[in-house]
Amino acid sequence: MASESFDAIIVGGGHNGLVAAAYLARHGATALVLEARGQVGGAATTESPWPDAPEFKVTRLSYVMSLLPPTIMRDLELERHGYKVFPMGPYYQAFPEGGSLTLYEEDSQRSHEEIARWSKKDADAYPKWNAWLGGLADVLGPLLLTVPPRIGSRKPRDLAATLRLAWRHRGLDVRTIGDVTRLMTMSIADLLDEWFTSPQIKGALAVNGVIGTWAGPYEPGTAYVMAHHSIGDVGDGRLGSWGFPEGGMGAVAAAIARSAVAGGATIRTGARVAKVLVTGGRATGVVLDSGEEIRATTVVSSLHPKTAFLDHVGKENLPGDFAADIERWKTRSGVVKINLALAELPNFTANPGTHLQEHHTGSVEMAPTMEYIEKAFIEAREGRPATRPFSDGVIPTAFDKTLSPDGTHIMSLFTQWVPADWSEEPHAGELEKYADRMIDAYNEVAPNFKSAIIHRDVVGPYEMEHDYGLIGGNIFHGELSLEQLFHMRPAPGFADYRTPVRGLYYASSATHAGGGVCGIPGMQAAKAAIADRAIRRPHG
Ligand SMILES: Cc1cc2nc3c(=O)[nH]c(=O)nc-3n(C[C@H](O)[C@H](O)[C@H](O)COP(=O)(O)OP(=O)(O)OC[C@H]3O[C@@H](n4cnc5c(N)ncnc54)[C@H](O)[C@@H]3O)c2cc1C
Repeated sequence: MASESFDAIIVGGGHNGLVAAAYLARHGATALVLEARGQVGGAATTESPWPDAPEFKVTRLSYVMSLLPPTIMRDLELERHGYKVFPMGPYYQAFPEGGSLTLYEEDSQRSHEEIARWSKKDADAYPKWNAWLGGLADVLGPLLLTVPPRIGSRKPRDLAATLRLAWRHRGLDVRTIGDVTRLMTMSIADLLDEWFTSPQIKGALAVNGVIGTWAGPYEPGTAYVMAHHSIGDVGDGRLGSWGFPEGGMGAVAAAIARSAVAGGATIRTGARVAKVLVTGGRATGVVLDSGEEIRATTVVSSLHPKTAFLDHVGKENLPGDFAADIERWKTRSGVVKINLALAELPNFTANPGTHLQEHHTGSVEMAPTMEYIEKAFIEAREGRPATRPFSDGVIPTAFDKTLSPDGTHIMSLFTQWVPADWSEEPHAGELEKYADRMIDAYNEVAPNFKSAIIHRDVVGPYEMEHDYGLIGGNIFHGELSLEQLFHMRPAPGFADYRTPVRGLYYASSATHAGGGVCGIPGMQAAKAAIADRAIRRPHG
């Protein structure tokens, strides 16, 4: 059953697929996005999970923006298409034993006073830590917009790309290279032990090392994950600080979709792709679940690599080494997202009041110490859900009034860990008990918390895999572990957004610069197709 043909088909209407479509359409290509679900956005989604209370909207999976480069915002005119972000407030942790810690990104004096309540020595070390980390993040940031070269290839073009990369970093001195090496290889726990003494400040700084990661804070590589979250500039201007998009993360996808459509792209939802058609080593189109065939000279897939390559292309169309690399791709997280509708704001014993205060406006954490976080991981690795999970909480309605009725709030808890293999079975009852324990932990420090909950929505790894295509429940289409970064993402020799199949490009979060809602993989895959002249340019 053949239907139309296009210059480019984009498989998957997550934010990266939409970015790819927007760039290709702007280049003059006829571009078709095929999205399996009833709405675009993928993991950047705003939904109403409670049928009897549609007035509450939650950003069901991802919840804050950070790494979207200014170039993409400008090229796709995202602000004109409705993209608006409220900068986040401070980091806040109320401790079960009493007291709290607030860290202000922009106010070093207040942060100093806060930390000094726990340790004067740590308060003095904190600005030096920020300066050290800022310096390293400025080295790592521009790498996010760099297309990884084929390291090891002796082809002149690849050697030149590797040399260009080395030349760009010629200004780095021995000390900086040493510091980057330490950052890439150390655990966040070992690194923080070198800088700080108080458990409270170490707990605060450890969280970013384990977000979305199947590794506790004592595992090597977690220092890099923390630094990844601290990047302020990807080389084309400072990134906005972390923030809440108005209308939730789905509004970001909607703005990109509007930009793509304005550029001439077509978006079809409810269109699940079953296969990528490959003839003579070249992609020629796709087949939908319905049997419909759609032809294109270029196909861009933005799906998880196991789906994109093993299911859609098939091992018979792939080199053995590449197929083996994708088969061994690590894709665990053990993340559970808990979305709550609240009748009132949490009333913290350490900072009382249900009226909106500064500590409600940023991250409202439940990760008091590194040991607390580590214990949650050890339990999950041993096959049990954490007794006391940790949470990166946010209350977007502190700013965004579009998500819930006046006076009520939405709170999003990004929590870890449950066993990685919970992606294979729903574990519905156990997930509810896990959510109860998470809520109890907040209730200990904010005693009105439990009674303030009007509705709750618990999304575990099974739902992430089966409803959203996040295989293994990994939030980034694949772990950000060292062996899966840069020239290894998703496989050595294919980190340049191209694939072993001619005419098939790869734009998922499993490529370099993914994951996160940054759009870079989508942009780079489109640029690779354009550079290869895979796209005809009908109008120019
Ligand atoms: C719980 C959670 C919290 C997160 N928090 C943050 C955060 O706060 N900030 C941040 O920056 N990042 C966060 N992330 C990560 C970020 O959301 C993802 O890395 C990013 O959204 C992935 O975008 P993508 O376009 O690459 O893929 P996806 O969003 O996964 O899009 C792929 C799309 O393909 C569709 N699809 C799947 N199979 C088919 C098929 N056969 N045919 C057609 N379509 C198909 C899917 O429905 C989906 O829409 C979070 C992720 C999760 C899960």
